[in-house]
Amino acid sequence: MMDLDLLDEQLNMLLAHAELNGESCGLKHSKEDPSENHPAINFLCQKLGDRTNKVAAQELRIPICEECAEALYDTDWILVYCTYCHKSQWINRKLAKKSYPPGNQIYWLDVCPFCAEIANEYKEE
Ligand SMILES: [Zn+2]
Ligand SMILES: [Zn+2]
Repeated sequence: MMDLDLLDEQLNMLLAHAELNGESCGLKHSKEDPSENHPAINFLCQKLGDRTNKVAAQELRIPICEECAEALYDTDWILVYCTYCHKSQWINRKLAKKSYPPGNQIYWLDVCPFCAEIANEYKEE
């Protein structure tokens, strides 16, 4: 019997690579060297949505460049990503004011300080 799951995975990978044509990195880079200068080589995937209802769950796919892919394997760097406004921030463990438990490399936020700021602006209007 053919392993359909595996086939599916290979197909997804092929599709992912096809879609990467011309995409630039979706994660934060410096102002001097913005994300647009960094072609994406892969996708960072995260399941989103209602965890009790698997059908409704969406997959978030963020194009990432080589540099970011490497940083994700570097235990000195933590990525914070807001799934609402798609803003991201890199935090260096050694320079961080808070201490982050080891092993956690990516923090997915439903809402971030930037989102909260926008919400406040709307309230003031
Ligand atoms: Zn990048
Ligand atoms: Zn946000």
